Formats: sequence, structure tokens, C-alpha cells
Amino acid sequence: TGIPTATISRLVTYLRILEGLEAQDVSRTSSGDLAERAGVTAFQVRKDLAYFGRFGTRGMGYTVPILKRELLRVLGLNQTWNVVIVGLGRLGQAIANYPGASDYQFQYVGLFDVNPELIGQNVRGLPVRHVDELREFTRTTRVDMGFLAVPPERAQDAAQSLADAGVRGILNFAPTVIQPRTLERSGQQEISDEWRAVIVENVDFLAGMKRLAFYILNPHLSTVDTE
Ligand code: NAD
Repeated sequence: TGIPTATISRLVTYLRILEGLEAQDVSRTSSGDLAERAGVTAFQVRKDLAYFGRFGTRGMGYTVPILKRELLRVLGLNQTWNVVIVGLGRLGQAIANYPGASDYQFQYVGLFDVNPELIGQNVRGLPVRHVDELREFTRTTRVDMGFLAVPPERAQDAAQSLADAGVRGILNFAPTVIQPRTLERSGQQEISDEWRAVIVENVDFLAGMKRLAFYILNPHLSTVDTE
């Protein structure tokens, strides 16, 4: 019952398009219209949406606010998500200062670093705490996601701090693969308990640039996305 990751990425795109339509007071759309705006096929749009239910009426298309509301629900963006940022260097501070996240129900509840010069400082109204306090912090404040913006060689340790604190979602900006901790149990390597429910998403604009370089050199290989 898997759903392609590309489908989830496209749902985010459809949502952005619907928000744009709503802002222009457009009340109806169709799979053909959404497809054109998203750069995919109408079949793809219908297939992506069909994973989650029936949102339109045959031949009538979709009601913009209803489809938007349904996508917000499917993506879990109709509930509040408490986020901590680990690593308050250039990137971490830029993320903390970027206002876009609060348009959705993402709210920064804590900032963590190891640099004594940063600890105690305020960034966007929140004090920077030592990462060693993360676990204690989660006893009183629910934390759903952690943004990892530490140097690559520190990312694994910082991710472990998040997992130890019971944080289930890690958005990793460091260009490194985060590995769950494993334990040997009766001769088998098993994922340790604190990692079992953890999901890691990687964000890497350099990787995007590398893909772009390839596609600029090989334009005939860049086709409409159909997964
Ligand atoms: P930076 O050196 O300016 O900041 C890193 C911060 O992490 C520092 O404040 C440091 O004290 C802190 N830190 C180090 N170890 C820590 C730990 N164990 N726990 C908590 N904090 C810790 O670096 P930057 O330029 O902000 O980059 C941060 C990371 O993001 C790097 O891995 C970089 O490669 C990556 N990056 C990714 C993208 C992207 O698109 N994904 C873009 C830019 C940078």
C-alpha cells in the first residue's frame, strides 16, 4: 500500500497551486488545469489524488476551497506541528527568521546549539539552548519535528539527540546520510528503540544544482514527471 514519494511532492505542489487560485478568487479547477500549472499530465493528477479518495465530480472538476481543505488534511497541515531547530549557524538562523513556516501550522518552539556564544541569545524571540537540554525540554514541550542544520560531521550525533528526545521527524539539511542506531540482539542487527518511529527527510539544494547541471547537459532526458 505504498504511495510514491513523488506523489507526496506533487500534492504539495497542487496545494500551492490551489492557494494561488484561491487568492485570485478562482473557485473551480480541473485535473487538466492543475496538470498544466504543475507541469504534469491530467492522468497523473487524477492518479495522485485517487490514492486519498474522490475529491471531484466527474465532468465537473474540483471546488478549489474543498480540494485545498482536503489536501491540507491529507498532508496533516490542518494541525499544529511543533518544531525545534538544531544548529543555529547561518542556515539555522535563516530558517528561524524565515516567516513562511507559520503560514502553515508549523511553530518553532525551541532552538538548540552547542556554541557557548550562541547559547542564551535570542533568535526570533526564542532563546538558544544547549543541545544537551533537548531531552529535558521535550518533557514539558511536545516536539514533533527537528530541523538539523549542523555541520555534516556533527549531524549523526545531533540526530541521535533528537531521536533520544523522542522527536519523530527529522528534516536533515546536512549533506550526509543519517543512520539509525543499531543494536545486536540475539546475533541480529536491529534498529534501536528510539529510532523505530523516526522519519528522516533530506533537503539539499546542492543536490538540486547537480541534477540541474545534468539536465542542462542532457535536455532530451528531462521529461514530464510520470511516476
Ligand atoms: P554553520 O557552521 O554556520 O552553523 C552550524 C551550527 O551548528 C553552528 O552554530 C554550530 O555551533 C552548531 N552545531 C555544531 N554541532 C552541533 C550539535 N551537535 N548540536 C547542535 N548544534 C551544533 O553552518 P551552516 O552554513 O549554517 O550549515 C549548516 C549545515 O547545513 C551544514 O551541514 C551545511 O552543509 C548544510 N547546508 C545545507 C543546505 C541545503 O540546501 N540543505 C544549504 C546550506 C547549508
